[in-house]
Amino acid sequence: MAAALADLGEAAKVAALENLGDSDRAFRIATSWLEGGRACGRHRAVGFVGGAIGVDGTPRVRPRKGSDALSDKSGIEWTDATWNPVTGCSKVSPGCAHCYAETLSLRFGWSARPWLPANAAMNVVLHPERLDQPTRWRRPRRVFVNSMSDLFHELVPDSFVFEVFDRMAKADWHSFQVLTKRPERMASALRAYYARRSARAPLPNVWLGTSIENDRWAGRADALRKTPATIRFVSAEPLLGPLPSLDLREIDWLIVGGESGNAARPMGAGWALDLRDRALSTGTAFFFKQWGGRTPKAGGRLLDGRTWDEMPSVLLHREVEAQVLGRPIDSVPSDLVRENLGKRKPRRWIGVPVEA
Ligand code: SF4
Repeated sequence: MAAALADLGEAAKVAALENLGDSDRAFRIATSWLEGGRACGRHRAVGFVGGAIGVDGTPRVRPRKGSDALSDKSGIEWTDATWNPVTGCSKVSPGCAHCYAETLSLRFGWSARPWLPANAAMNVVLHPERLDQPTRWRRPRRVFVNSMSDLFHELVPDSFVFEVFDRMAKADWHSFQVLTKRPERMASALRAYYARRSARAPLPNVWLGTSIENDRWAGRADALRKTPATIRFVSAEPLLGPLPSLDLREIDWLIVGGESGNAARPMGAGWALDLRDRALSTGTAFFFKQWGGRTPKAGGRLLDGRTWDEMPSVLLHREVEAQVLGRPIDSVPSDLVRENLGKRKPRRWIGVPVEA
């Protein structure tokens, strides 16, 4: 089998392995192909395979058996696994130009047409059979939801979004990370969701984030602030310009990264350093993912001579410090929080560390 596979192209290998039921190897081949240099930043890993394409003008539902929508081999630095109850999307802003998920889907035949708004009805697919997958994964981990789509795409109905959130509530030993370029829709959907629940507090194991690539879209953080959430984060990746208008108040975590791929748009060092400094001043956990370049690792991960891998567990430490000091959380200086990082174990639900 190995010799026969060696003679095939990547897409054929993936298809052949899927037919043999070997989703793990299919996944590894797909991701290694992508490691060749096509990442858009948001999508560094995949966890689904596709099938027939249909057109009916409504979101499509594709039943499928198996565990291929959930991968515990994510290449994304800040997560452990991916879960894709929805696949396919359409582009909304310049950060989508080299969408990794689109590249992968077209390359391997999971989408028939480019991810343009006109093709959304063909490309956006609901996978209800994948909804329960995280509940079968017993070891706690951070799960990136919809690495191959945007959960808040306009063709994903509220009822399906609610189903996804119900599963995240049920699988409360995991931490789920939901990232969208449609935070206004997320805000309205989540307000409706929590209005229906008896317990209206935001799910403690769900982190909600939005992508902001240049200052034109800095207002997405305002919509995020209006969304009920325990942890809010901004992904400034691919960072395509400075973000002077970005307001980091109530933002718990900031991820910054450059674009990678053959057509990567370079990130200015000053843009990243400015965001790092503002995150430090507001006590926002700061994660520098990579400089980018032809491959994701081309430029390395050092910013100002060191790596930045902070996670929002800093907030838990801040809570602990506030309790110890008997002071309101906001009055605890961030340098005190940082000094004490690692001295106390975070609560399990935050998912850091993820190993049980
Ligand atoms: S919103 Fe995300 S998934 Fe959708 S096209 Fe843009 S980068 Fe790709």
